[in-house]
Amino acid sequence: MSDTTPKSIYLDYAATTPVDERVVAVMVPFMTERYGNPNSLYALGRDAYRALEAARESFAANIGAANPSEVIFTGAGTEGDNAAVLGIARAAKARGKGNHVVISSFEHHAILEPAHRLAKEGFEVTELRPREDGIVYAEDLRAVLRDTTVLVSVMHANNELGTVQPIKELAAATHEHDAYFHTDAIQALGKVDWNAVDLGVDAASFSAHKIYGPKGVGALYLKRGTPFEVYMIGGGQESKKRSGTQNIGGITAFAKALEIMLAERGTEDPRLTALRDRVIDGVLKMPHTALNGARDVPRLPGTANLSINGVEGEAMLLKLDNKGIAVSTGSACSSGSLEPSHVLLSIGLKPEIAHGSLRVTVGRFTTDADVDYFLEVLPPIIANLRAMSPVYAKMFGASV
Ligand SMILES: *Cc1c(COP(=O)(O)O)cnc(C)c1O
Repeated sequence: MSDTTPKSIYLDYAATTPVDERVVAVMVPFMTERYGNPNSLYALGRDAYRALEAARESFAANIGAANPSEVIFTGAGTEGDNAAVLGIARAAKARGKGNHVVISSFEHHAILEPAHRLAKEGFEVTELRPREDGIVYAEDLRAVLRDTTVLVSVMHANNELGTVQPIKELAAATHEHDAYFHTDAIQALGKVDWNAVDLGVDAASFSAHKIYGPKGVGALYLKRGTPFEVYMIGGGQESKKRSGTQNIGGITAFAKALEIMLAERGTEDPRLTALRDRVIDGVLKMPHTALNGARDVPRLPGTANLSINGVEGEAMLLKLDNKGIAVSTGSACSSGSLEPSHVLLSIGLKPEIAHGSLRVTVGRFTTDADVDYFLEVLPPIIANLRAMSPVYAKMFGASV
């Protein structure tokens, strides 16, 4: 092959996605000619207001909200997660019901950290573990709920494993104790059936940049009547729940991004599932490898998390990066030390196994050829790393 252009193959769609050009097209005019403030009363402002409310109506309809006013646009998925956990728990506690909060132990840090904050404020926080298959079961939730429980938050699809949680059952179990149920639906949106009324959730958070929209735009669904302590005060935008002049271009883009996701799911879901399964089957052909989370539980179409024993995730990541391939690992470099992923530890992986994991996520612009290249490049990298690995030798003897 004479092709000398360096390859650039993106297999990390769970981290972020490129903005679809159709989404960019609806976004740009709001930065140039349609730049009005939606609070202004003249024509330019009214135009921005109409665009904002049209986006809200589209988004609300596409998440099955009973009323568009239940959608609050935010500045990130993280913001919605923080607002829901802190805002609902504090407001519900103020109503006198209790101070017990339940989250799952494999939540994103955008949920874990606010829950830790609540614990410091005097809340009792239970971290419920998923089972080894990567699922949080309603019967396990029932076992930890109390009369004093005010809030339960369990993510819809786990960002590292791709396993999809039984949200409808979890919300129902929560309501048996008159507590409120929030879900971080950031990975699930546009990839699994999502209807707020059907699921019976009280709150949910979403983010645009995981579905081919821009970074820095999110939404919080807050069912009417859900207690909520307002965290951003000022001009009273978003029904006084989140002040700050709205990012009209970003919000319009978010609504458009979701419309495209839903319009294309019928063909994209099976295509991505097939690509993901090729990744899984290809990696599992190598010895001493495993899929994390059970294979036969509900899963996102594009996400695979694999343990490759005896090698460091970071080493694989860097070698793959050298070949132009972007993937993620099961470790996070926090304060200079490599901690194995709390998600993988939550489902019972030993730290030394969790260290050798890769998350591969395919998406809209992934081709069969991308997966071919990944599966061609990975085995020699692993053989090489294992040959140098004292851990691998100790685990399995000398054979690679
Ligand atoms: C990406 C992500 C977040 C954070 O969203 P941002 O918009 O990046 O702040 C939170 N939870 C999950 C599950 C995510 O995948």
